[in-house]
Amino acid sequence: MTTNEIMSMYPGELEEYVAALGEKPYRARQLFADMAKGYRIGEMSDLPLAFRSLLISQADYRLPEIADKRVSKIDGTVKYLFRMTDGECVESVFMRYEHGTSHCVSSQAGCAMGCRFCASTLLGKARDLTASEIYGQAVMAGRDTGERVDNIVLMGTGEPLDNFDNVVRFIRLISDSLGLGLGVRHISLSTCGLVPGIYRLAETGLPVTLSVSLHASDDATRDALMPVNRAYNIEKLLTACRDFFRKTGRRVTFEYTLISGKNDSEKDALKLADLLRKGMTDDGRVSPCHVNLIRLNEVEETGLEAPSPDRAKAFAGTLRKAGINATVRRRLGADVTASCGQLRLRHIKEENKQQKLL
Ligand code: SAH
Repeated sequence: MTTNEIMSMYPGELEEYVAALGEKPYRARQLFADMAKGYRIGEMSDLPLAFRSLLISQADYRLPEIADKRVSKIDGTVKYLFRMTDGECVESVFMRYEHGTSHCVSSQAGCAMGCRFCASTLLGKARDLTASEIYGQAVMAGRDTGERVDNIVLMGTGEPLDNFDNVVRFIRLISDSLGLGLGVRHISLSTCGLVPGIYRLAETGLPVTLSVSLHASDDATRDALMPVNRAYNIEKLLTACRDFFRKTGRRVTFEYTLISGKNDSEKDALKLADLLRKGMTDDGRVSPCHVNLIRLNEVEETGLEAPSPDRAKAFAGTLRKAGINATVRRRLGADVTASCGQLRLRHIKEENKQQKLL
């Protein structure tokens, strides 16, 4: 790192940075641990005042700030809108499950991928987030709730593999034992299917859980829903998934958003089962996989509709009968616009409206 963006630095890099400011290496470790707690520089009482003043004047510290927060009355899910130091806003969702807490973070402000059903991409991509801006969402949610973040899912706004270096750096930062020490296995990365990124991720050897947003079982349907499929079709995508499993030993999860009349019929379910049985076969072995079904969260601007809960149940049943592991994901935070991108979109629209009024 050649910048002064301190929260994106690994402890070793931070040591070099503080050495240049005339401080000992253990100060870097203290600073790293303080940042992992979400402390502002003024709150880092274990650091000498002179050093803190130096940091305030020299360092670029990008801890996000909570711009808006909504707590679900139904299940306690917390939806945050975080403001970055340049004013750009992103959202994240903190959920509580029986097996622990799970925090869904954004990797980009907006998204360039253009999936037809998704609110995050409606205004395109504003910019990538730095590693610290992704990390900061987890740190601040931990600080705000007072609860440990047990699992991280990179399923908020943005395509993580379109921001590869910052996302990998984020994974290394959050798993560092001097800070939050989250096990890499507790991190899920969701991709729309940027195939070269999947190969690169497998090369890092990081044992993350890979989630692939499939949403269709044939190229014509997937082309229509997800423009990325025109660059990397289903066959190329499943080949990359097999490679990921072979290299990391990690089971791949497929996300399948059910959209009424587009991909939710009995025939679609049978085709999907067939595809996954064939597609995940490698040297006569079937790589284990799991399908997460989710009923579309309706986004007004797209005109697409969710199927009924019964249709979703039937779809899951067909998959299971055909030997594919499948679950219908429970919707948390239904009353706090928990679908990704919706809160940011609303926030930007509100801001624009206000600007026009001024
Ligand atoms: N870009 C990544 C991660 C962000 S989206 C990806 O595409 O995987 C996280 C998941 O939510 C993806 O599976 C995405 O396809 C899905 N999703 C997006 N908008 C949705 C909506 N309105 N309803 C249901 N799922 C949606």
